[in-house]
Amino acid sequence: MKRFLPALFLILLLSTSNAQRLSALAPVPDWTALEAFQETITRDEFVYLLEEVYAPRQAARGLIDIEPERALIRTTLEPAQTWVLRFAKDRASLRPAPRFWRTAAELTAARAPAEKRPLAGWRIALDPGHIGGEWARMEERWFKIGDTVPVTEGDMTLRVAELIAPQLSDLGAEILWVRQSAAPVTPERPETLKEAARAELALLGITPKRETYDGPDDPERGSTLQFESEVLFYRASEIRHRATLLNERLRPDLTICLHFNAEAWGDPHTPTLVPNNHFHVLVNGCYSEGELRNDDVRFEMLNKLLGRCYNEELAASENVAATMASLIGLPPYEYPGKNALQTGESAYIWARNLLANRLYHSPVVFLEPYVMNSQEVWERVQAGDFPGEQMVAGAMRKSLVREYADAVVAGVRSWAGAQKKETPIQATVPK
Ligand SMILES: [Zn+2]
Repeated sequence: MKRFLPALFLILLLSTSNAQRLSALAPVPDWTALEAFQETITRDEFVYLLEEVYAPRQAARGLIDIEPERALIRTTLEPAQTWVLRFAKDRASLRPAPRFWRTAAELTAARAPAEKRPLAGWRIALDPGHIGGEWARMEERWFKIGDTVPVTEGDMTLRVAELIAPQLSDLGAEILWVRQSAAPVTPERPETLKEAARAELALLGITPKRETYDGPDDPERGSTLQFESEVLFYRASEIRHRATLLNERLRPDLTICLHFNAEAWGDPHTPTLVPNNHFHVLVNGCYSEGELRNDDVRFEMLNKLLGRCYNEELAASENVAATMASLIGLPPYEYPGKNALQTGESAYIWARNLLANRLYHSPVVFLEPYVMNSQEVWERVQAGDFPGEQMVAGAMRKSLVREYADAVVAGVRSWAGAQKKETPIQATVPK
């Protein structure tokens, strides 16, 4: 009998791994990592965070069952396997949830009385969105009108980060860079991800007829191996490597993700310019039922929920958004669809499930100011960077990147200034 055991074990292992339902390039979740969160949350707080923030519209129905003393969480769907989270009986018996980051209140309370710099002791990561440079066209963050200056989000966000860093340093913060050049963080490249791309297409029921595509207008582009491996590279692999860097090496108290927004611009060589210009800030939340059916997404959502990022992420985002909005003068963006949900008190703050704010284990302020293909922002990109103010797009203004950077610095400073005493990071459950 004994000699059959290894074979039986192998079959079990294979059937288990076959049952995993994973999103692109996601590792198989290690659910034992969540054991550290046993009895660190009350049932009320868990239900509130799940139903109001992370899985609104009953998105976790059938995936997470809430009982009086515990939650049963599906680790796999077929066959159905379960991990059990035990709630703390009451607030008094809460065990502390493990986390490497400190709240702004804790950082402020820990500051020496003689220390005058408001961000002394803060570890702030700067994450300039996208890659830019030679990758900007591939990642579809590039457009250009005739012979004018191209608009490339990944280069603009890096320039903003370069302007922010010395200012936050002067205020006492330790700056941690997610990237400091127009180069990928991931060692993978589209060529190394071809087999993964083939597997992703197979999951969608697509057998690629062609390996490569002929430019952005190719109607079969989306079903080519080239396109799929490029998306895996700049979206999945790049963000996953940034997350590993942040969670395992940098371990910041706060991460600032810098982006510029855009509306559909069509052909990048004859882009549509729009009159709209707006601003919003994202916190992690609003997972859909479809997203939560992936085992890794359920796992990562719970890690984020139990890690208690929400309260700190929301408060920091509200504070930064209010300060930035008053300085850059843009109205709040309103999501038309169901992939985002307005959360908290500010019209500028939306909960949305992005790979970056999902995988980053400490609080993230995810900034989306300025519509790159608005007439005004396009004119400001053409004017380039300059000190002081100049007449651009009909008004005296700072350069676009300086206005953005200065507004972020003012926002973080305001967030630090709002700290008075240490407050516990317990979600406020409305009665
Ligand atoms: Zn972006």
